Amino acid sequence: MRAALRYAQVTMPQEIRKLSEINWSTTLALCVLHVAALVVLPIYLYVATPSMGLVAMALGMVVACTLGVTAGYHRLYSHRSYEMRSRLVEALILCSGTLTLQESVFTWAHHHRRHHAFVDTDDDPYSINKGFWYAHFLWLTEKPPPIDGRYIRDLKRNPLLRFQDKYYLPLAIGLNALVTGFAGLVSHDMFGAVALVLLARIFVTHQSTWFVNSLAHFWGSKPYSREHTAVNNWIVSVLTGGEGYHNFHHTYPSDYRNGVRWYQWDPTKALIWAMGKLRLATNLRKVDWISIRTRMLQEDKRALVQAVSQLRAPDREHLEALLHDRWDRMSLQFTEFKTLLAEYRGLKRANPDKSVLASMRVRVRSLQYSSKAAAADWHRFYRLVIEHVKLA
Ligand SMILES: [Zn+2]
Ligand SMILES: [Zn+2]
Repeated sequence: MRAALRYAQVTMPQEIRKLSEINWSTTLALCVLHVAALVVLPIYLYVATPSMGLVAMALGMVVACTLGVTAGYHRLYSHRSYEMRSRLVEALILCSGTLTLQESVFTWAHHHRRHHAFVDTDDDPYSINKGFWYAHFLWLTEKPPPIDGRYIRDLKRNPLLRFQDKYYLPLAIGLNALVTGFAGLVSHDMFGAVALVLLARIFVTHQSTWFVNSLAHFWGSKPYSREHTAVNNWIVSVLTGGEGYHNFHHTYPSDYRNGVRWYQWDPTKALIWAMGKLRLATNLRKVDWISIRTRMLQEDKRALVQAVSQLRAPDREHLEALLHDRWDRMSLQFTEFKTLLAEYRGLKRANPDKSVLASMRVRVRSLQYSSKAAAADWHRFYRLVIEHVKLA
């Protein structure tokens, strides 16, 4: 019998084998939800006009659910980039994530940790190398590999997460029914609540989360690392509450920020920071700016060396010498600044005389200024050489 089964497995036609590899429950649920959103929403908007209150509730739920995934599923649980002190706030964030119908934290974090560990390889569950649409949603239609407990050992110690995993389906259905029912009762528009607060909200949060796996590995810039396909894309950040700065995230996954610059749109970072200030969250992990800047400059240097190597001698030798000379001078500035800053921080902790600290601060500021100027100079040089290589 066993031999017959093995034979059937080997000789099973490709199409039938493919059918057996489909994750039918997820595929059908996603089809139903998407088709329902695309059919019900236009019908509702044709026959009725939503009240401002209902629209506000739908938008509020999109924001809450997005943050449930970004601040909860992703940065808190998958990467442990901070810790929650308040169980109540953690439960609220967990409920928001549950509402998005993206599986339990155990499953989500398992796939996501594997994505980071094996990015762009065959073991990456949503590798962009299998195509844009595969990374966007087609991977969800395949039967997932069994959960490997080693990836989520830490999460299994959390009783809230064990509870969510055990009762995921009733929790997800119940919370969605509760939120939609509440919105319908308050607005006296149950049809509108189903169309906007339930279907449109789930559609938007699914698509926006999926864009992180597809578009943020496909189109954008790579200022922090060129070693993986992850890119920075501000459009994805606007859609996903800050998750579009994916090149930074894949380079520094344990940093609680994704948009590391003050002007980059990352409301999830702002929320976590605010929770830290209110002492609801603690141990906010972040990489210091000098290490980030140094790495960015190293990436530029690597690209520059590669670009210059395409030139012919003697142009190539001349530019190589210039490049290494400039790089050495700038590295020296950065090393001096880093050393002095570490000394200053150590001294500050020792609580010395204020005048000693003040004079050292002046030296730190002056070195910081010259390091910034050296980096700007290097950047100008980088642009000029790249232009030159393009024209050559
Ligand atoms: Zn990624
Ligand atoms: Zn991540």
